Amino acid sequence: MPTELEEGILYVSMEFGTVIHKCPCGCGQKVVTPLSPVGWQLSYDGDTITLTPSIGNWSFVCQSHYWIINNVVQHALKWKKNPIEKGRKNEQKSQKKYYRNKSKK
Ligand SMILES: [Zn+2]
Repeated sequence: MPTELEEGILYVSMEFGTVIHKCPCGCGQKVVTPLSPVGWQLSYDGDTITLTPSIGNWSFVCQSHYWIINNVVQHALKWKKNPIEKGRKNEQKSQKKYYRNKSKK
């Protein structure tokens, strides 16, 4: 992983199962999106990369929210406070579920 990130580039680490990029709003924050069955999924069609679900940087000052579809950043409307809290809770729940399922194997 490079320490200096270039704007507009997605850094994909297969080793760490993580995608890192610089926030496209221009704030310069490093955005880390861990890949997992309940986290982000990366799809590569041989030419372009799509990252799902959307990326919501609510811990940053900019609070940007966007999708990366076919290498293109599609900005979404800023989330209001309630959906963010809800989203966080759902995230925690599904992560717990995942780890529980994983430890059974
Ligand atoms: Zn930003």
